[in-house]
Amino acid sequence: MPDDARNHARKGAEIFAPGFKDTPYWWEAAPRPPANPQAPPRDVDVAIVGSGFTGLNAAIDLARAGRKVVVLDAEELGHGASTRNAGYVGQTLKHGFRDLQNSHGDQYAVAVYREMKHAFDSVAERVESEQIECGFKVRGRLILTRSRRQYADLADEFERRRKHLGTEFSMIDKAAVRDEVASDLFNGGAIVPSLASIHPGLYHRGLLDRARSAGATLIGGTPALAVVPDGKGFDVSTAQGPTRARDVLIATNGYTGNLVPWLQRRIIPFDAHMIATEPLAPERIARLLPTDRTYIDHVHDVISLRRSPDGTRILFLWRTGTRPTTPRAKGAELHANAARIVPEIGTLKITHSWTGRCAGTFDLWPHLVQHKGMVFAGGYCFAGLPMGTYLGRKAAARILGRAEARTVFAERNFPTVPGYTGNPWFMPTVMRWYGMMDRWQMRGAA
Ligand SMILES: Cc1cc2nc3c(=O)[nH]c(=O)nc-3n(C[C@H](O)[C@H](O)[C@H](O)COP(=O)(O)OP(=O)(O)OC[C@H]3O[C@@H](n4cnc5c(N)ncnc54)[C@H](O)[C@@H]3O)c2cc1C
Repeated sequence: MPDDARNHARKGAEIFAPGFKDTPYWWEAAPRPPANPQAPPRDVDVAIVGSGFTGLNAAIDLARAGRKVVVLDAEELGHGASTRNAGYVGQTLKHGFRDLQNSHGDQYAVAVYREMKHAFDSVAERVESEQIECGFKVRGRLILTRSRRQYADLADEFERRRKHLGTEFSMIDKAAVRDEVASDLFNGGAIVPSLASIHPGLYHRGLLDRARSAGATLIGGTPALAVVPDGKGFDVSTAQGPTRARDVLIATNGYTGNLVPWLQRRIIPFDAHMIATEPLAPERIARLLPTDRTYIDHVHDVISLRRSPDGTRILFLWRTGTRPTTPRAKGAELHANAARIVPEIGTLKITHSWTGRCAGTFDLWPHLVQHKGMVFAGGYCFAGLPMGTYLGRKAAARILGRAEARTVFAERNFPTVPGYTGNPWFMPTVMRWYGMMDRWQMRGAA
């Protein structure tokens, strides 16, 4: 344990601030609207299940194209991961560029990563054209490494992206890391200046407002209970009564239940956990995270560290894929690890500790698919801020029969494995395996 944190612990210091909350920090600026259950309209053109980035981005485009749209959420609008995430707007998939080159060749790798750039741009474009005030900032990301092996691996990945995609980056050494983050744990890293951060709660609230003013009906507290296709449309039953829809979009990502069992067999839900610290004086935050980038480490079991958009707090994510215990227990676990990375965090109190649910897939790809006529977009494997925006809009284009619906993410089979029905009992084992791979990569000299 670092000295600051050890001294703090020795004093038996309380790590939770008075008024500690187990809800997302983002909800302070963008509180959830009350659930307000109600019966949906009897007939609609499109019923959308799920009110996160995917559902709302689709709803805006569909309503503006003149479709009568209802968005249903089982809980309050925006209950899911869209208002709980870390707010990193990236351009990376679980499949690295080099992996795709090796498995599918240069052309395919370039096609996929070009689309990742389009996905990133779709967020920037939405925020700008809709004038959504949500702290969208392109300050770059620092990807940190802890060993020579990791450093070389990261440099190779980005060198390839520079060559084939023109992605700018610069590799930095241990001393230069110190100018970026107050940590001695890392031997270097890559700065990727084109990546961004956002306040996901305010982005989501902006999308809600735009969807509503485009004419979509938005209903919280009203779960969809069944969707029955009959060749001409769908009978959707909800807890508040039925609706008849010509098209249905399922946008439930990590919150996918048994509404469509075919989908449930293909989605692996897993939890991700975050904490926010108390507000810090400007000089202190400038010392701890001087450059206001997003920071992440080059491992499977990632840590993410960033300033809050108002520049007053530190937000930290870790232990993805582990089961929630209690918000305080998980918060303490994250706090101790954050202090291992930036020792001074050990002296800070936590004001918020929360959890949200992500969706993995068996092939680690996001998917846009149609099953029995229903459209589904999701399985974002932790890239749902750009991908939810992008594939939500692609899903709308598909429903509208537009050519721009085309995407590489709609061209792949959507696999499951025999016997899987939606209970991801194996996730802790998978995370332990990832942890072992990370330690293997970190072995040797820094
Ligand atoms: C802690 C955390 C950190 C993350 N960090 C990042 C990040 O920095 N960058 C990034 O790109 N991604 C990140 N992600 C992932 C990203 O947040 C998600 O991929 C994205 O928000 C998914 O959006 P969505 O609209 O598809 O689903 P969600 O926002 O999860 O919404 C799904 C909704 O469906 C509703 N629902 C489910 N079943 C029904 C039903 N039967 N009837 C009605 N409604 C139903 C749920 O109530 C829920 O509101 C993170 C996720 C978490 C949890």
